Amino acid sequence: MCGIVAITSSNRRGDLGILLTEALKKLEYRGYDSVGIAVVDQGNLYVAKNVGTVESVAKSENFASLSGCVGIGHTRWATHGAPSKKNSHPHTDCAKKIAVVHNGIIENYSELKNFLLSRGHVFISDTDTEVVPHLIEEFKRAGLDTYSAFRKAVSMLRGTFAIVAIDIDGGRKLLFTRKVSPLVVGIGSDFVLVSSDIVSILPYTDRVVVLNDDEVGYAEPGRVFIETVGGRSVDVASRVMKVDYGVEDFDKGPYEHYMIKEIREQPYTLNQTLSGLISSRDEVEKSLKLLESADSIYIVGAGSSYYASLLGSLYFRYLGFRAQALVSSEATPYLRGVRPGDVVVVVSQSGETIDTLLAMRESAKRGARVVAIVNNPLSTIARESDAYVYMKSGPEICVAATKTFTSQVLVLSYLGLAMTRDSHRIEASLRALRRLPEITASMISSTENAARKVAKKISTEHSVYYLGRAFGYPISAEAALKMKEVAYVHAEAYPAGESKHGPIALVASGFPVVFTIVGELDELIEGNIEEMKARGAYVITYAPSDRITSTVERNSDLVIPLPQVLLEVSLVTYVIPHQLLAYYTSIERGYNPDRPRNLAKTVTVF
Ligand code: GLU
Repeated sequence: MCGIVAITSSNRRGDLGILLTEALKKLEYRGYDSVGIAVVDQGNLYVAKNVGTVESVAKSENFASLSGCVGIGHTRWATHGAPSKKNSHPHTDCAKKIAVVHNGIIENYSELKNFLLSRGHVFISDTDTEVVPHLIEEFKRAGLDTYSAFRKAVSMLRGTFAIVAIDIDGGRKLLFTRKVSPLVVGIGSDFVLVSSDIVSILPYTDRVVVLNDDEVGYAEPGRVFIETVGGRSVDVASRVMKVDYGVEDFDKGPYEHYMIKEIREQPYTLNQTLSGLISSRDEVEKSLKLLESADSIYIVGAGSSYYASLLGSLYFRYLGFRAQALVSSEATPYLRGVRPGDVVVVVSQSGETIDTLLAMRESAKRGARVVAIVNNPLSTIARESDAYVYMKSGPEICVAATKTFTSQVLVLSYLGLAMTRDSHRIEASLRALRRLPEITASMISSTENAARKVAKKISTEHSVYYLGRAFGYPISAEAALKMKEVAYVHAEAYPAGESKHGPIALVASGFPVVFTIVGELDELIEGNIEEMKARGAYVITYAPSDRITSTVERNSDLVIPLPQVLLEVSLVTYVIPHQLLAYYTSIERGYNPDRPRNLAKTVTVF
């Protein structure tokens, strides 16, 4: 899940280290185990790397002192080898002439390593990546030029990877290849950038080429060469796209953390998503046509995107459509039942989540049509889908999803609603959805104090249950996921009625149980609240005002009123008070909610 950035420039840049640092800051969401850069300057290779954040490593390793025409940078999410200085990228060959950054996994690295060891190469790290510079070196020793050696090395790799290499003997060339892990080339007047994500390219140029799987090539100022691994050359000019969306603001602004900024942005982002749905009629219509013609609908996602999928699938069924949600990494066996005529909706914030991408490819192989819901229209998932809906939530920097989750739910609700073709219903719901900005804003302000208060209680606990019925269950599941991700409190979501088939055994005096009442299909929840209270649970109930009955009042230690809104609005917004609760619990416990340990935002490894 690492982030890669590379630049080649026609002029020697005194600020090359600074430029790479700035670009890496935009990729830090992809991993933050360690950071490193390598530059070639006046015939020498310089590598600087260490464990830490981009800011701290750039300072301690003095990135700013590095100049040159060509350089690569990397921010790591370790898969092979612990997060440590020696395992940080870039990795080099024995002669320290070649430097390589890599995102993904090289599956056959031990085999290649044994071959290279037998040829006398000396390895420093425990990573799979290090085989790459040594392979290039090996083939150069055999007489190949830099690019041919790189190409030959790439042909020997199995797995998923995006790789960029530089070589003292390679002039200003950035050598690159991609298989599954994303890589984008940005073309400027006198420079070329290569990166895992367009966000680090957009500040410098809007002309990009998105690499396809199994393509390999090189870039130098004024020239980008791409061919397939099979040797077919690519007409690069025809692949250049002009990106017509601007660089969004990556600044935290007045906020202490991105998480709270992104939670508070939701009145705006939901409005953006809804306006996009209404104005991009053609694209949305294309998705709708596919969905309407579907025999069965599968909705596939990972992490928060899975809970959005679950909520969406329940809403589709509520409206009378056949839909089933699947966890991306577990989808394959279920997808065996997919037939031509079915539609698979894939939900992915980044559009690069590998498990989702593979589920999507498996579905396409079985003849299904694919509709994607993404926040990046240039992503692999968007490009490989039959139709996609762009959420327009803007960049989400905090690793834990907040605003993209609510946008995903909004897109799914909108699609479900539109599929009914019931103009009366659509009209009424749209009227309510148009009020999302004000409803969301007032929900944030009216539940924030309660979030701070409940956070104090939960921050001292080891465990918390989140219970809901019907729509309340996926909302609870997303709420529990947030709590685990940013506050490291064990949080388990359960369908409220099911909780007495096991989980209730753990409930003793003071055990926190958070109920979410949505107000549709969950009439029986009052009994579940009563059951928990009878076991001494500390009950916190989130409920719309019309559902705060005397039973709810009597059995809850704390009741947090939610606005009484139409179902379609509650599906999108009722998670927001839980996002606030997770945020304040994380703060209460002294953590940085933006950077949960062991997690990375875009999961590009299996
Ligand atoms: N496998 C490489 C490493 O562990 C890259 C990891 C990744 O892209 O997540 O360093």
